[in-house]
Amino acid sequence: MLTFSGFPNNIGYELSKMGCEDMPAITGDEYLRRVNALKSDVWYDGQKITGKISEHPAFAGMIKSQAALYDLQHQKKNMTFKCEKTGEDVGVSYLIPRSKEDLQKRRDMIQEWASFNGGLMGRSPDYMNTVLASFAASLEVLKGEKKTFPKKLKSFYEYARENDLSFTHTFISPQSNRSKLSVLDEEVTNARIIDKRDEGLVIRGAKLLATQGGITDEIIVYSTPGTAEDDQSYLFSIPSDTNGLKFVCRRSFAHCNTPLSSRFDEMDTVVLFDDVIVPWERVFIYENIRAVASLYQDGKFIPFTLHQIVSRQVIKAEFALGVAQSIIEMINIDEYEHVQGKMAEMIRGVESIKALLFKAEGTGKLDQSGVYIPDPIPLYVAVNEFQSFYPRCMEILQQLGASGMVTLPSERDFSSELGEDLTFYLKGYEKGGKEKVELFRLAWDLSMSEFGSRQTLYERFFFGDPVRLAHAVYRAYSTDSAVRRVKRFLK
Ligand SMILES: Cc1cc2nc3c(=O)[nH]c(=O)nc-3n(C[C@H](O)[C@H](O)[C@H](O)COP(=O)(O)OP(=O)(O)OC[C@H]3O[C@@H](n4cnc5c(N)ncnc54)[C@H](O)[C@@H]3O)c2cc1C
Repeated sequence: MLTFSGFPNNIGYELSKMGCEDMPAITGDEYLRRVNALKSDVWYDGQKITGKISEHPAFAGMIKSQAALYDLQHQKKNMTFKCEKTGEDVGVSYLIPRSKEDLQKRRDMIQEWASFNGGLMGRSPDYMNTVLASFAASLEVLKGEKKTFPKKLKSFYEYARENDLSFTHTFISPQSNRSKLSVLDEEVTNARIIDKRDEGLVIRGAKLLATQGGITDEIIVYSTPGTAEDDQSYLFSIPSDTNGLKFVCRRSFAHCNTPLSSRFDEMDTVVLFDDVIVPWERVFIYENIRAVASLYQDGKFIPFTLHQIVSRQVIKAEFALGVAQSIIEMINIDEYEHVQGKMAEMIRGVESIKALLFKAEGTGKLDQSGVYIPDPIPLYVAVNEFQSFYPRCMEILQQLGASGMVTLPSERDFSSELGEDLTFYLKGYEKGGKEKVELFRLAWDLSMSEFGSRQTLYERFFFGDPVRLAHAVYRAYSTDSAVRRVKRFLK
């Protein structure tokens, strides 16, 4: 049995179990083999999934898309870099940037993956790889903190990087009582530490949700600030097939013959911890809310993660813009001023987000440890703005598409004896009915289907609700120079 050298044999991660030994920058096939081998405890519609998860209808399309991302690592340039420790090619999303060029390399890689799915896979592996890299680059904030294990966190990051592990994560407590007085609740639902044994922490309870739960090698579990009391706070990572860990799926939005949902529906799962034992080797922080908060707020988590997010959102916004312009051309409505106005609104948004991303890279700074950190303010602004800009883009698609969004006969209708009539009666300005319906089906799937609605909800909430994100923007922004200007004027 081969185990990672950073962990003792008895509780180390068994690489051989996954069929993966020294496997830098994996291919799609490697990813498939691993997630199928895990046989994680995933529940769909009252039943535990028993066969290969990559063949289950709720997962097949999305897992195939995820596998294609891993293949792209080997098909496109600059998707990997030489690992300083092993000399092997590892994924750029694990790169800790040491210069502006490194950061741009990260952006290029993230956008290459996002271009494959129109930015619709919010939790493609680069998201959590970035989070883990940000933790590993922030260990100084844990200095002197009790019950924290920075060396283990660093080793774990290297282990993940060198084996190209995939991650899901669950950070938030269940949504049962969000009142400020919820701390007084007697019945605790949040996953909590119920025991500390020689083998590790024992965790019981639930976490709000994990997108892609059950289809990744590992899950990172974290009490983000405000989600736990001091004695219930933690940061750990465990394999998705750990005993007692269960993922409960929502209804699948992946339907046949839908251009987007059939391929990119990242499942969302509730995560249950049924007395899960987390080996000490995988506990990075416990019972220390200050350390947990500091890693989140004072480390590099926010700038790095926001940089990954905004890089993807640029692609998603451009994709929406492209769909809007295609609708305009399909039904020839570009002479109308309100149509031009709506497009100008989308263009302003797209260009603003791009500019904010470039600004963040340009005004980034090297810190004392030699890590190049993007400027978090423009990124915060971009993500907070996107929470209302993206839903507005979806509204504009509906306003431009109008009835075209629902006059959508199926492929089979077009292949039937009605095909000729439909091709003529549903024709666009310069295109036949089939081509027009294909475009409008795409627009519908993006903005109106269950999948599309979930995409909008995702962009509104996945990095925190817009209200509290706005608070964070305000708190992080220095108004000093603006106030000084006013003072000078008053003098
Ligand atoms: C599609 C999707 C995928 C996600 N994937 C993941 C994932 O993979 N992993 C993960 O960990 N999380 C994930 N999340 C969770 C995400 O982080 C949360 O949705 C977000 O933090 C908001 O929390 P909540 O959903 O519990 O909303 P709540 O906090 O319950 O908010 C509900 C409403 O109450 C208001 N409210 C609640 N508390 C306050 C307060 N203190 N002050 C002001 N207003 C308040 C909010 O503004 C909002 O209007 C995902 C969310 C979505 C929608």
